[in-house]
Amino acid sequence: MKRLTAIFLVLLGVSGAAGTVNAQIRNDEVYEFPNLNEDNYRQSLIVPDIEGYKTLKCDFHAHTVFSDGKLWPDQRVDEAWADGLDVIAITDHIEYRPNKELLISDFNKSNEIARKRGDASGMLVIKGSEITRSKPLGHLNALFIQDANKLDVKDPLAAIDEALSQGAFIQWNHPGWPNDTSTIYPVHRDLIAKGKIHGVEVFNSSESYPEVIDWSNEFGLAPMANTDIHGLSAMGYRGRFLRPMTLVFAKEYTEEAVKEALFAKRTVACYNSTLSGKEEYLTALIKASLSLRVINKEKGVVEITNNSDIIFQIKYGKLMYSVPLYPFQTMRTSLRAGTEVTFTNCIPAKDRYVVTTLW
Ligand code: ZN
Repeated sequence: MKRLTAIFLVLLGVSGAAGTVNAQIRNDEVYEFPNLNEDNYRQSLIVPDIEGYKTLKCDFHAHTVFSDGKLWPDQRVDEAWADGLDVIAITDHIEYRPNKELLISDFNKSNEIARKRGDASGMLVIKGSEITRSKPLGHLNALFIQDANKLDVKDPLAAIDEALSQGAFIQWNHPGWPNDTSTIYPVHRDLIAKGKIHGVEVFNSSESYPEVIDWSNEFGLAPMANTDIHGLSAMGYRGRFLRPMTLVFAKEYTEEAVKEALFAKRTVACYNSTLSGKEEYLTALIKASLSLRVINKEKGVVEITNNSDIIFQIKYGKLMYSVPLYPFQTMRTSLRAGTEVTFTNCIPAKDRYVVTTLW
């Protein structure tokens, strides 16, 4: 008779969520190694809270097989969770669905599947769609919509109005794509003047649009950075880079709070350890991320510790170029009290950096 030893380890109190470790078996014929399965492991991604708000790491632009992406919606959610994000929006194209013959032709379906997974795994999933038209209008994400099917109309301005009637936040996507030119066309000026565009991508996928941070300042738009992911995040970033994300300063971790923060434009675009947004938020992120210990006051010998996952780049005194402050490392340096430090990874406007003192 087969000798059976079963060790049941209830590791997590969640039941019914696929990918959750509930039991571990070891018998004469089967040894299980759940530690080789990364499904239940999430990367810690530390960006500090500021000004009494929670700093949520968000991606407001992601595709699935329901448009031209490569992943099923629930996997897109799992992937974002594993990458350390707090919020993901599924924003499949309305107008471009190469797989539509294979899949149910319902524009709400990808979000339904994604939200079900988000509910099971404690991940906030925002319902969105990408209104996908040629330039001059270009592409816009409608976030927090109720019914994506109603956006499938010929007139793009009518699609935007429909999304707005559903309470949507409208994000202008990749203004510099596909013609390598970032242009505000009259249609955008008109929509912005009417309060029909609320945010704009300073960064999309692997492109930044340096002028766009000035637009966000001039027109009061929320600066955003998103992946616009179609394939696998592991292939795109492979652990070496943080995936692009929009930092949202929210009152709490709920959909309502994220929406409130977006409409209040409390965001910073974060890509490749570059932070772009209002100077107030950038300075607050610097102060909350770095701590300083004075070793010798007269000689100005200090230790600076970076308590975040952002690589800060700093320049001061006689330094000819920036030096990095790596995540969770301490750097010893000479920095006298009152010395101005330039943070060349913190961009409040085109060709401008945050300059501040650390003590
Ligand atoms: Zn897209």
